[in-house]
Amino acid sequence: MKVDYIIVGLGLAGLAFTEELIAAKKTFVVFEDDSQTSSLVAGGVYNPVILKRYTPVWNAKEQLKIALPFYQSLEKKLSIKIDEKFVIKKVFKSIEDQNNWFSATDKPSLSDFLNPVLDSQNYHGIMADFDYGNVNEAGRIDTKKLVQSYRQYLKDMRLIYFESFQYDAIDFHMDHLTYHHIIANKIVFCEGFGMVNNPFFKYLPLNEAKGELLTIHAPELDIKFLLKSSLFILPLGDNHYKVGATFNWTDKTSNPTEEGKQELVDKLKNVINVPYSIVSQSAGIRPTVAGRRPLVGKHPVHSQLSILNGLGTRGVMIAPTVAKNLFHHLENEEELGAEIDINRFG
Ligand SMILES: Cc1cc2nc3c(=O)[nH]c(=O)nc-3n(C[C@H](O)[C@H](O)[C@H](O)COP(=O)(O)OP(=O)(O)OC[C@H]3O[C@@H](n4cnc5c(N)ncnc54)[C@H](O)[C@@H]3O)c2cc1C
Repeated sequence: MKVDYIIVGLGLAGLAFTEELIAAKKTFVVFEDDSQTSSLVAGGVYNPVILKRYTPVWNAKEQLKIALPFYQSLEKKLSIKIDEKFVIKKVFKSIEDQNNWFSATDKPSLSDFLNPVLDSQNYHGIMADFDYGNVNEAGRIDTKKLVQSYRQYLKDMRLIYFESFQYDAIDFHMDHLTYHHIIANKIVFCEGFGMVNNPFFKYLPLNEAKGELLTIHAPELDIKFLLKSSLFILPLGDNHYKVGATFNWTDKTSNPTEEGKQELVDKLKNVINVPYSIVSQSAGIRPTVAGRRPLVGKHPVHSQLSILNGLGTRGVMIAPTVAKNLFHHLENEEELGAEIDINRFG
């Protein structure tokens, strides 16, 4: 079998790069071994504002301009509904927090997103001592539905192998490489935290930021917005909500833990005061980089090998843009931005 590309990993990064290849009529195969779960468990929220500090997310406007049409086109292509727009309501912690919001609404980079009119309504079941601030232009991609549907789409076209990619089986030649029976021009690694097992790229500084989430059923809670407090409460419909997420910088497994559950239950006590039951718990590792910029580019020695990783806590917004950046870098020799190029690590 002869292909232009092999892609390793089919989470949000691999999916976005595959879409670039399909649009350019390139040939490819994908390997996926289910070792990482980040894209399957993610809240999937896109939010252009960092609500802890009231600062814009890096390149938020530019990323949304590419990401929203990207997910819309996938809805059509796969005949699924994955993009749900909603308002995010930030629960203010104090009068000072509320004042900081007001100052931020004047900033040109935030004025499109932060609503200067506060919401002082009472919502049954939610404990809030102060008003709420509304974030516009936010929403959620159902990443689990997207990734599962996309894997099925590739399976139907016989373009995906559900097996682990073996790094030591690559044979390098002058203008191509071989991997078992496959002859390819290039390999793009999109392994998420699985990168730590990749002998070619594990020198890059990827950190494990494990996150855990609960799905709860709260029959008396009826909100259609995403509530952002010490944790987020994301409506899924039928009084079901995703609640999350934890941050753990030492646990390298994707297994749900009792500690993770307890942390969320404890925080939830200060946010809602209606009964609920826990329906399920999930966990995954966010592929995070110090400096919060992705890892994109060619291997310094083996230029046939590239990486698309480090999407951190915002894979939904970032993936479509950086996949495009990498594709044009590899095919049209366009420069990668210095901020995302792995050259920055020497
Ligand atoms: C709890 C939690 C909540 C989150 N919430 C949000 C959110 O609300 N909004 C947001 O934008 N982001 C969120 N994220 C972050 C988001 O999930 C990530 O940024 C994104 O999913 C990373 O995508 P990826 O494709 O790089 O990695 P992954 O999703 O980890 O995909 C990598 C894939 O590669 C496969 N793989 C690895 N090694 C191999 C190999 N050797 N052979 C074959 N296959 C291999 C893995 O099985 C995996 O499927 C959250 C993450 C977590 C954990």
